[in-house]
Amino acid sequence: MVSIKNSREIELMKIAGKINYETHKLLQKHIKPGVTTKQLDTLAHDYITSQDATCSFLNYEGFPASICTSINEEVVHGIPSFKKLKNGDIISIDIGVNYKGYHSDSAWTYPVGKIDEEVSHLLKHTEAALYEGIKEVKAGVRLNNIGAAIEKYALAHNLGVVKELVGHGVGQKLHEDPDVPNYGKYNTGMILKAGMTIAIEPMLTSGTEKIYILDDDWTIITRDNKPAAHFEHTVLVTEDGYKILTGDE
Ligand code: MG
Ligand code: MG
Repeated sequence: MVSIKNSREIELMKIAGKINYETHKLLQKHIKPGVTTKQLDTLAHDYITSQDATCSFLNYEGFPASICTSINEEVVHGIPSFKKLKNGDIISIDIGVNYKGYHSDSAWTYPVGKIDEEVSHLLKHTEAALYEGIKEVKAGVRLNNIGAAIEKYALAHNLGVVKELVGHGVGQKLHEDPDVPNYGKYNTGMILKAGMTIAIEPMLTSGTEKIYILDDDWTIITRDNKPAAHFEHTVLVTEDGYKILTGDE
């Protein structure tokens, strides 16, 4: 069932979103060669808990860390470890924040030091694809317009669209209805209503869209080992458009 949030719930989600954004900004300052993903995990955990919130991912279906850290060909759900970041890597950081029972979900892919041109193309256009999707959001519009816009933009920039993983409703649960695919046909799917909150999250690749899961049962990798990027915002549907809850306003 798709939930419509009332104004009290929206206020709580805005705070969850703000803490999420602040955590990204904090981690961004620490992303450099030599840093371990475990250090980033600890920083995120300490900041989120200092804000009277908890980490949505910690123990979620058994996930063993506070954030997901996915490097290079890892698409999503990478587990923080003592592995050090290297110059030329990219790292996708996915953060979930639970503030008084309401979740925000936001991911960004960051360059580590200097990255090559193909990878830079991937980051720039995956971020842009996210905003192409978000621009479609408005009460009365059909859900699949979001995925259609993302897919169209990704294909125009020669990027693979991961289809086995999708965005989702978010609120009292981290993952709620509806699914929000990163592909689809315009003017199909459910009609968006004001008060819905959804996580839009294109996962694009420099090569194939095919993925597999590692033996740790979490980390998802591209089949051709080419890099993948992941950008995600939690977005509120409004009568005249949208409000990004995990951004800087
Ligand atoms: Mg996420
Ligand atoms: Mg998500």
